[in-house]
Amino acid sequence: MKQDRYKVTITCEKCGERFTLRAKKGKSGSVQTGFKRCLCDNEQDFHITYHEV
Ligand SMILES: [Zn+2]
Repeated sequence: MKQDRYKVTITCEKCGERFTLRAKKGKSGSVQTGFKRCLCDNEQDFHITYHEV
């Protein structure tokens, strides 16, 4: 059984902080990270990349 696991890199476009998370693909097909906001209170302006692992 294939497991859709991803390493997700989130870079804040405002302050440049970078977060690396692990995520799974949910039933809807979207990758759920649980990430909400950056340390600088930015909640929308991110550059996100996914790597299958
Ligand atoms: Zn930030």
